[in-house]
Amino acid sequence: MPLKDKSKSLFEQAINLIPGGVNSPVRAFKAVGGDPLFIRSAKGPYMFDEDGNKYIELINSWGPMILGHAHEMIEEAVVKALKRSPSFGGPTAAEVRIAELIIHMVPSIEKVRMVNSGTEATMSAIRLARGFTGKDKIIKFEGCYHGHGDSFLIAAGSGVATMGTPDSPGVTRGTANDTLTAPYNDLESVRKLIDRNEGEVAAIIIEPVAGNMGCVLPKEGFLAGLRQLCDDHGIILIFDEVMTGFRLAKGGAQEVFGIHPDLTTLGKIIGGGMPVGAYGGNKEIMDCVSPAGPVYQAGTLSGNPIAMSAGLAMLSYLNDNDDTYAQLDRMTKKIENGFRSNLKSIGKDYTINRIGSMISLFFTEKDVTDFDSAKTSDAELFGRYFNAMLERGVYVAPSQFESLFISTAIDEAIADQIVESNLKSLHTIL
Ligand SMILES: *Cc1c(COP(=O)(O)O)cnc(C)c1O
Repeated sequence: MPLKDKSKSLFEQAINLIPGGVNSPVRAFKAVGGDPLFIRSAKGPYMFDEDGNKYIELINSWGPMILGHAHEMIEEAVVKALKRSPSFGGPTAAEVRIAELIIHMVPSIEKVRMVNSGTEATMSAIRLARGFTGKDKIIKFEGCYHGHGDSFLIAAGSGVATMGTPDSPGVTRGTANDTLTAPYNDLESVRKLIDRNEGEVAAIIIEPVAGNMGCVLPKEGFLAGLRQLCDDHGIILIFDEVMTGFRLAKGGAQEVFGIHPDLTTLGKIIGGGMPVGAYGGNKEIMDCVSPAGPVYQAGTLSGNPIAMSAGLAMLSYLNDNDDTYAQLDRMTKKIENGFRSNLKSIGKDYTINRIGSMISLFFTEKDVTDFDSAKTSDAELFGRYFNAMLERGVYVAPSQFESLFISTAIDEAIADQIVESNLKSLHTIL
């Protein structure tokens, strides 16, 4: 059993100072039992907690650390920028360079605006879609997370055409009524929603590969079907690539699936670990953003020079090193194969979803293609699995409904260790 005294003591202090003791809910170990570990440092594939325990890292800051932790190249860029002052509030060369690079890498982006988080990117993107189309409603998918903006905190009702009900107190009825929800991978539901709300839908927003109900892939033809519906009805298609952007390919899921959205939201990897988000797309639409156009959006620290330097270093690396994605795919495939043979050896047919370096092991024998099927997973069993892995020094996300992220710092030997811990953990809990 790893020692947890310091983490425990810090959490006892934190709980009296910070709501729930954490600054973002997923960091609490609520879904899996136990208290969160307080992290002291991380390097490459490993993270170290305040008690000195070492863990193989499969969260990677929920996605950003695709090259592993504390990569020298990013560290150098940040230190260099820091010495020129952490912030100016005026435009910088780094902002021009990163915009140029994003537009080069992401197929559908012609102009881009930098913000400070994925949440800000999605909030701004739907305001822009509404401003551009003059329509109010949006369609989102059950189980997709788009940050904590009011419009996105809506749970689906049981019927496909059910009006949204707020998922959180504080979201007004009015806002909820403007968000329509459909099951992921269900094109027919989307068609019905559009028909029932003809002329009122400004945008469809989707994770082109879902990562926030565990990893769930779009079915063949689903994204193309959405593209067609949007074209037919004058609706803006927004790909929320905060998670998939620069992770599945240089150009994200839109490159992998060959479907071009009108707007794309980005975050996570784009900041190399610093708080950065962005939204971009078609020139005509983006030129509606102030000060070029009337849709207001601003930010005191947007395009912050330190954040831009880290992001620029990260994106330049990914742009220049073509083999990165093939390498990530190979290593994650190895882990997938290992998990599959472990499951076989213990006679369980649990579902594994994977694309590139995103992978989820669902504790259900049903196919997972949407939120309802994801929820057939045995969450209690997952909780025990999480803790069993942690005891063996492997840190997976503390929720069944998260994807794991493999970084380039994970080599063959570490992958073997992960697979071995998986087998031992499965034996412990079953
Ligand atoms: C993480 C995430 C967000 C929110 O980004 P934050 O930086 O946490 O605000 C939005 N959309 C998707 C798909 C995400 O994975």
